[in-house]
Amino acid sequence: MRDNYQVLNNGMAIPTIGMGTYSPENDRRTTENAVKMAIKMGYCHFDTAQIYGSEPALGNALNKAISNSLVEREELFVTSKLWGSNHHDPVSALEQTLNNLGMEYVDMFLVHWPVRLKPWVLNPLPNEEDFDQLDLETTWEGMERCLELGLCRGIGVSNFSCTKIERLLDYASVIPAVNQVEMHPMWRQSKLREFCKDYNIHVSAYSALGGPGNYWGSTAVVQNPIIQSIANKHNATPAQVALRWGLSKGVSVIAKSFSKERLKENIGALDLELEDDDLLEIEQMEQWKIMRGEYYVNQTTSPYRTIQDLWDGEI
Ligand code: NAP
Repeated sequence: MRDNYQVLNNGMAIPTIGMGTYSPENDRRTTENAVKMAIKMGYCHFDTAQIYGSEPALGNALNKAISNSLVEREELFVTSKLWGSNHHDPVSALEQTLNNLGMEYVDMFLVHWPVRLKPWVLNPLPNEEDFDQLDLETTWEGMERCLELGLCRGIGVSNFSCTKIERLLDYASVIPAVNQVEMHPMWRQSKLREFCKDYNIHVSAYSALGGPGNYWGSTAVVQNPIIQSIANKHNATPAQVALRWGLSKGVSVIAKSFSKERLKENIGALDLELEDDDLLEIEQMEQWKIMRGEYYVNQTTSPYRTIQDLWDGEI
């Protein structure tokens, strides 16, 4: 394997470049082919979620690669996530995920958002009537139960602010191993990274390229003149600069591509070396959170009345 690793607070090693599998089309064949190409290039960290619908295609591609001896299960790091409508029963949700993947365990299981939805809601963009009373303490107990049962090797959270993690630590028996959040050169998460470092919680960066081409995403990162000039200087691409910047901060970076060229380009970030001046220049870039979570905010049923509430003012 060409990848490198960071060690988590539970002793697991997380490969620092991950492949995302969310695509709005969710075409099973395209996803499967892309994962197959990625394995051959040396990717071993794959990110999915029940709500993406990509678990069956990902599992199929990984299981085929295992049976063709391209990779061993122990070399893979598979992350999936608990959707809001499953907060009442994480164990059953993870069993469903494992069934979708055709696997006996996932490496990491994350609470996708600090949002609880009614059990029948499978809409990534919930309506006002879809929200249920948030109770992260019982949700986390369910996550800990998943770990006890051996359905996953590690548990963590996603889209959690410092404040939400701090509250969770008051009652958690198991400290989250990972907090997966938006992070790229234009949303650098310095406060959250410092906070997580203090508790030995690994930060994993999603939308590590800023999501160019996504309906919620932006080309602001890959088309930024600073990123482009650093890329030119190193004979690299803007995407490689963005990913290498993330790696330089000690996080794992998750980028989605289903194109052979771009998958190769993205894992090529491991070979790029940035200079101190480059990193300093990136620190001066304007900050702009792209995934703000507007859909999880409303005036009546959500625990969050405003975007500031959702992120506890850390935005
Ligand atoms: P991203 O990886 O920053 O961007 C993906 C977009 O960039 C796709 O449109 C892709 O198109 C394009 N792309 C990929 N490589 C490129 C390159 N080298 N140059 C230019 N464009 C490139 O954003 P993301 O998909 O939002 O995030 C990545 C993964 O993180 C997701 O797939 C998902 O697994 C995870 N995620 C998690 C959460 C969460 O709440 N925990 C939220 C969002 C995302 P092509 O496929 O055509 O290359």
